[in-house]
Amino acid sequence: MLGIKVELIDKIGMHSSDTAMIFLEDVKVPASHIIGEEGMGFTYQMLQFQEERLWAGAAAVVPFYKIIRDTAEYCGQRKAFGQPVLSNQSVYFRLAELATEVELLRSLLHKATAQYCMGHNVTKMASMVKLKAGRLAREIPDACLQYWGGMGFTSDVLVSRFYRDFRILSIGGGADEVMLSIIAKEMNILPSKKK
Ligand SMILES: Cc1cc2nc3c(=O)[nH]c(=O)nc-3n(C[C@H](O)[C@H](O)[C@H](O)COP(=O)(O)OP(=O)(O)OC[C@H]3O[C@@H](n4cnc5c(N)ncnc54)[C@H](O)[C@@H]3O)c2cc1C
Repeated sequence: MLGIKVELIDKIGMHSSDTAMIFLEDVKVPASHIIGEEGMGFTYQMLQFQEERLWAGAAAVVPFYKIIRDTAEYCGQRKAFGQPVLSNQSVYFRLAELATEVELLRSLLHKATAQYCMGHNVTKMASMVKLKAGRLAREIPDACLQYWGGMGFTSDVLVSRFYRDFRILSIGGGADEVMLSIIAKEMNILPSKKK
């Protein structure tokens, strides 16, 4: 059949955002519908990545704090072996450590955003923001889910949703390894490829 065909893809998370394969067969797009100049799509995509990567960090900070706060609250109420789970030093130390990491991410995000707003090239810092957000997007839900015990493995609690949904942050918008390559390039330490 000619035209546009959409095939939805089942994912482990982000269920409120459809992902699909889109097939275009003999589809004609009027010239008036072209966004920008023809042949410039890749360049536009590269240019918008600074903003997208800053957004990735900005979109993660509040949920990160929420997961940590909710976990502290739950662990303060939940008793195991006669005392709140939160009274274990290993638990409150870990939550304090994670909150510190989020605060560092927030500081870098503010610095990079301020410089971007002043018109500076923030490729390196935006990539660092994205990398760190992706790393914490895996670390925080995983660490926190553990303290929810069996409840954490159910779909009844928000932490399990974050565990699934946030996994994409290390992949989408450029994978962690791509961020590391960009940062290394900006540091002038990326080995040149042999021809
Ligand atoms: C739910 C979802 C939503 C998405 N939304 C968007 C969107 O809105 N806009 C958009 O443009 N894209 C979107 N994407 C695509 C996303 O940006 C890509 O999946 C991502 O950039 C990784 O590309 P890839 O899947 O082709 O993986 P590949 O390029 O096949 O890479 C696979 C893995 O190989 C490793 N790797 C890749 N390159 C290197 C390297 N140079 N050095 C070392 N290791 C490397 C990484 O671990 C990487 O995860 C989305 C993807 C998903 C799953």
